[in-house]
Amino acid sequence: MKPMLFTNALIFDGTGRDVFAGEVLVEDDRIAAVAEGADQLVRDNTEVIDCEGATLMPGLVEAHAHLSWPSSVGRIFNGPNIAKVLPPEEHLLVTAHNARVTLEAGFTSAYSAGSLGTRFEVALKKEIEGGYLPGPRLVSSSLEQGPAGVPGVPPAEGNKHGRGAAGMRAYVTEMAELGVNSIKLLLSGDDAFAEGASQHLTYSEAEVAAAADEAHARGIWLSCHAQSAESIKLALRHGFRILYHCSHADAEALDLLEAKKAEVFVAPAVGLRYARMHEAEAFGITRAVAEKMGVFAEVERMQKLIPAMRRRGIRVLPGGDYGFPYNPIGRNARDLELFVKLFGFTETEVLIAATKLGGTLMGLPVGVIQDGWLADLLLVQGNPTQDVTSLQDPQRLLRIMKDGRFIKRPTTSEL
Ligand SMILES: [Zn+2]
Repeated sequence: MKPMLFTNALIFDGTGRDVFAGEVLVEDDRIAAVAEGADQLVRDNTEVIDCEGATLMPGLVEAHAHLSWPSSVGRIFNGPNIAKVLPPEEHLLVTAHNARVTLEAGFTSAYSAGSLGTRFEVALKKEIEGGYLPGPRLVSSSLEQGPAGVPGVPPAEGNKHGRGAAGMRAYVTEMAELGVNSIKLLLSGDDAFAEGASQHLTYSEAEVAAAADEAHARGIWLSCHAQSAESIKLALRHGFRILYHCSHADAEALDLLEAKKAEVFVAPAVGLRYARMHEAEAFGITRAVAEKMGVFAEVERMQKLIPAMRRRGIRVLPGGDYGFPYNPIGRNARDLELFVKLFGFTETEVLIAATKLGGTLMGLPVGVIQDGWLADLLLVQGNPTQDVTSLQDPQRLLRIMKDGRFIKRPTTSEL
């Protein structure tokens, strides 16, 4: 394949520096060169893509992906239990479809926050990496697990491992043998599962310590659902990589997060909460139901906590629990708008979080437009650093490239 040269682009390189006019050369799966201003790269033997002033930026990273949560834009599956809404065969195929939808929404990487099939994501990742199925780069996850029989942990989420340190070690070992990259634990319940459950610590310290020790020894990352302040502290004591929600962080939890800000990531997963507040009535989540689930109070707390985390330099990433019928996969870029609208991020700040910091979360050279980095790129009509909602419009995502290959061809006649 000929090297590809993007010319006449406005470049947002992911680092946060101002957008600049320039050119980007892609060779094989890598960014080979970047030129700025009037500088031109060599055109010989390249396929030139005139960007006509559109913005070239790194592909987005979804920090809280659930590819096996069934619903995607235009394809809604509703039912009392999303884990049971489809038979296993359909469920796996729908998961593969959702991987494509995620990628076509501009998300070239996804960090899974839990799967509904034990090996779904291990299998899917192999297909994606082999080039047989379209999808984002994936950090694959285990099922989302809490201990069985604990208040606030739904039965479906808590029956795959025994209790005690030995039970946890055995579970992590089993997951490592399956080949998952990340293990997700519910360290607290959730008020959406049962009233007040967000304050329940589900595991003992010894259980979490054993799971973490085993996971670290095996090179597996840990993610957690952590709402109560104590569950956040527990995760931080034991080297969890990403903490979801953190909606009851107290001053001590914030201090600990700040102390570990070079190691950990937080993703509030606000998209789901927002949808439950404003867009889920047709699915039976009236305002009264949403209040009972605690989402109004939770988002109100988040609106204080997330800006405080941002001021402290804690890495807070978009990623919104997409896949529910009222919060379908494909709408993921809406989280960026919510960070601006609800948490006071500037457009540029949230774009850095969704690109460069997301790439750091993935542990891959993605998220920055720089020589030698993987060529995961978006060409967007308009300037997302001025209007981040442009990323939500499929018509404005002119091109999507992953690994130096186009996923999406031009949608306008000019390009
Ligand atoms: Zn989730």
